[in-house]
Amino acid sequence: MSDLYAGIDLGGTKVACALGNTEDGIVARTTIPTNSWEGSDRVLERIADAVGGLVQETGKRPKAAAMGVPGLADLQEGVTKLLPNLPGKWEGVDVRGGLQPRLECPVYLLNDVRSATLAEFTFGRKRQVDTMALFAVGTGIGGGVVIGGELRLGPLGQAGELGHQIVVPDGPLCGCGNRGCLEALASGTAITSEAVRLLIGGECPRLHELTGGDASKVDAGKVGEAAAGGDESMRWVLERAGYYIGIAACNVIVTIHPELVVIGGGVARVGDLLLEPIRRTVAERLYMMPVEDIRIEPSVLGGDAGMLGALACAEGDGLIGAA
Ligand SMILES: [Zn+2]
Repeated sequence: MSDLYAGIDLGGTKVACALGNTEDGIVARTTIPTNSWEGSDRVLERIADAVGGLVQETGKRPKAAAMGVPGLADLQEGVTKLLPNLPGKWEGVDVRGGLQPRLECPVYLLNDVRSATLAEFTFGRKRQVDTMALFAVGTGIGGGVVIGGELRLGPLGQAGELGHQIVVPDGPLCGCGNRGCLEALASGTAITSEAVRLLIGGECPRLHELTGGDASKVDAGKVGEAAAGGDESMRWVLERAGYYIGIAACNVIVTIHPELVVIGGGVARVGDLLLEPIRRTVAERLYMMPVEDIRIEPSVLGGDAGMLGALACAEGDGLIGAA
């Protein structure tokens, strides 16, 4: 067996850990609850124990480890800067200092959507594209870009924040503090809030049926179900989100001319109801290059993407030289 690497995906509710490599994929894996309220020290200790269990199982220590994190991190120092959805926000947590002595190998950090982009490129597409972009549409909108076969990180690891490009200059306030970001217009949160407004206005009988009229039960999946079940207004909500993602995709396409734009994340599971307006918008609004050469496709990886990307990142020495 070739050398093994550790890929860790730190999420708000669970941490997925694997040993493997880009040739053999995942060799051993485990998942533990994040329980972030215990404090970052304890979380890191439990992650090290989980990886330790995998080392025992395979009889091999990882050559390097990488962890995808839901937010911003200092990649050079291996310190988290801001993980907004974790209790305590993990400002300045020295992940490398906490894990490296326990795992006895170099430890790297990466944003979780950049990690998913790397996974899509390495495992999903077998490195058969040269340049691609990924939009991860979930609660927020994350992103990543691969240019000339390399994940583009930029000096701060923040290149590829596709959800925070401005698509409506004076649009709604975004969580980042700016206005009119794609995330504020087309994320699962934006879709849900628009759907709730229409639910209260009595504009969506099918959604009303699915949720019993309870706004707290509305999510993007239910919006998709209601749209498929005949609610025209819910179809329009997804159509509008797809339109904005399509405009954002046009902006990225003219910037990097990718062969492939991947639409991933939980909201993308509504399928063609979202994909079709994205494709239509790109077909109508892209003028600078031939649209037929650019594929717009759903992600081919499931929930393992973050962990797989972390594996590839570890194998690539944290990609730190690639900035
Ligand atoms: Zn923003």
